[in-house]
Order: sequence, then C-alpha cells, then structure tokens
Amino acid sequence: MCEKTEGLSAESILRGLYKVKTKVIKIKEDNINWQYIEEAGAIIRSGGLVAFPTETVYGLGGDALNAASSGKIYAAKGRPSDNPLIVHIASMDKLSAIVREVPEAAYRLAERYWPGPLTMIFHKAACVPVQTTGGLETVAVRMPSHKVAQALIEAAGGYVAAPSANLSGRPSPTAAKFVMEDLDGRVDMIIDGGEADIGLESTILDLTGEVPVILRPGYITEEMLEETIGRVDTDRTILDGNSSQAPKAPGMKYRHYAPKGSLVLIEGTQVQVVSYINEQLQRYRLEGIKTGVIATDETKDRYLADSIKSVGKREDEEQIARQLFKILREFDDDKVQMIYAESFESRGVGVAIMNRLLKAAGHQVIYLQ
Ligand code: AMP
Ligand code: MG
Repeated sequence: MCEKTEGLSAESILRGLYKVKTKVIKIKEDNINWQYIEEAGAIIRSGGLVAFPTETVYGLGGDALNAASSGKIYAAKGRPSDNPLIVHIASMDKLSAIVREVPEAAYRLAERYWPGPLTMIFHKAACVPVQTTGGLETVAVRMPSHKVAQALIEAAGGYVAAPSANLSGRPSPTAAKFVMEDLDGRVDMIIDGGEADIGLESTILDLTGEVPVILRPGYITEEMLEETIGRVDTDRTILDGNSSQAPKAPGMKYRHYAPKGSLVLIEGTQVQVVSYINEQLQRYRLEGIKTGVIATDETKDRYLADSIKSVGKREDEEQIARQLFKILREFDDDKVQMIYAESFESRGVGVAIMNRLLKAAGHQVIYLQ
C-alpha cells in the first residue's frame, strides 16, 4: 500500500521558486554523514527539492507521491510537463506498492542489475500521481547503487522522483558544480557526492508490452538484458534522426544535452574525418567564428580548432561515457560557436554514446563514405 502525500498549493510552489537559498553539502559515499542525510530527507518529505549524486548522473529529487513536489521539479528544470520523471527506490519491497504488477522478467532483471543503471517501466498504481508520470498510466522505476542516493531515498520516505538535475535541454550534470550552474536558487539543497561513475543516464526498459523494449540506451546494453530475459527490442526512432515517428519515451523527442554552439557529427574513416573537419575549421576561422572539436586521444593533436577536447581513448567507451556531458558543457564556457564531433561505434555502450551525441547535435550528421 502507498498513499499520495498531501500537496502544496500551486501558489506556494510558484512563490517558493527562484528565491530559494540553496544549501550545498558534501557527503562521501564511503563515510555517510547521517545528520545531513536526515536533513535532506526532511526537505523532501516536506515538499522541497534536493539534488543528489547517483552512479549515472546527478538527480533532482522530490517526493514522488506528492503531485506538488513533481510540479516543483518541472518548474525548477523548465521541463515540459509531458516528460515523465523516474521514481527512485532503495529496496525491492518498495516496488509492488507503486505498480499494478511486477512481471517475472522484472524480478530477474532486478536480481541481476539492481541496484544499478537500469530503469524499468510498469503500469502504475493509483497512489502515483499523474504529475509524476507526465500524464501517463505507466511509471518508470529505478534503484540506484550510489550509497548516498540510497540513504537519501530511505530518509525521504522511500519514493524519490528524480530526473537529471540540469535545466531542461542542457547536458545532464556529472558533478555537483554543474548542478550549481543550472539550479542554484531553484532547489533547497544540493548534495555534492563527487563525480558520477558512469556519466550517462540509465537504460530505460519498457516492460508493459509483449516484448520488452529499450526506450533509451545506456550502460546496460540490449545484449546484457537479453542474456537475462531473452528477446529485447530497441525503439528504433531513438537512433534514427529521420524517423517521422515519435519516440516512446516522451523525453527522447526533445533536443537535449545541447551545447549553445552548433554541433555536427562526422562519420567516416579517421583520415577522412580529420581532413574534412580541418577544412571546415579553416573556413570558420577566416569568418572569425570560434570553433571546437570533440576528438579522441588518437586524433586530438591533429585538429586546428580553438578548443579541442578529447573524450579519451577510442576503445575506452566507459571513459568516453564519463567525459561526454562535461565536455559538452565546457564548450559553452569557452563560448565556442561551431563544434565538430567524431562518431563512435554503434554497439555496446557506444549505442548510448551515439544516442546522446545525436541528440546534442539535433541529428546533424555528415557521412563521408
Ligand atoms: P531523465 O530522468 O531526465 O533522464 O528523464 C527521464 C526519462 O525517462 C525521460 O526520457 C522520460 O521520457 C522517460 N520516462 C520516464 N517515465 C516514463 C514512462 N512512464 N514511459 C516512458 N518513458 C518514461
Ligand atoms: Mg534528463
């Protein structure tokens, strides 16, 4: 059984916004300060917002069973209200109260991948307000592995709605300083728990249809899921910029992760990509436009841009995943106007990396072969 929490009035939500004094605290994963956790939990229980670290990216947390708290999350982020939030839990016994049923596959996946970077979608129970689910009758649920996140969720009453803690449209924050950049004055507290381990948001798997479908690729890949539960499909619209169909995860249709400059992805052999990008860079330079390149360790010394950022070694996809959002934000600090990015392998974690890059680029890709 779970019950909706008493709501705040719309007026009190609006009055509270943009005037909040944001308290920033540090909590280490291996040495949790329980007094701070209690303070943060109390903020969420009373309808406030706390940004907190998880192993994927930082989350912006509110009471998932309180419609007004969810309303505050949308307002703080400037997020469209049809873009549902993920409900975070810290133990398996909390799941059944917020969903209509838990399919067998979900138990098997939870056994293998929870706590961890996997979000599963279920039919929702009545106690989950539609404000939390963006008007949908389904609910997305995740159990994060970050110890600070787990402690906060428990202290907050067990159900924390949390999208990524960035302003809508900006790259997801992988460190507390990026949360500060976006949400200072818009949330009651930010918990600094160091840099995110994974750096990309969770894999989202829809379990409400006949065949489980990946709605957002992430660190846990299609192959990994299939090992545990058999056939899994991927919503193709999320990888194909030309698709006329809307993606099944409402959030995937918005331009996202986007740096302020224009970003274009270049596909081809390494030699082709480097020479094509350098030609373009020269042209922009003559026009006085500030340029940037998302390169790899293998190529970073070969570009002639104003700002060259390596995401790491090409074969080290985990490092690339960790670096990507930080680098997209740094181009804004450097005031870069035109950015070129190399492309990455579309398999394994590379699927998630390419998905985020394609979204950041608004699906602008140039194929050289
Ligand atoms: P964020 O937490 O900011 O990464 O955003 C959550 C993502 O989960 C968005 O892309 C949402 O569209 C997606 N999502 C959350 N709940 C659902 C749901 N019930 N059905 C489909 N997608 C969902
Ligand atoms: Mg997000």
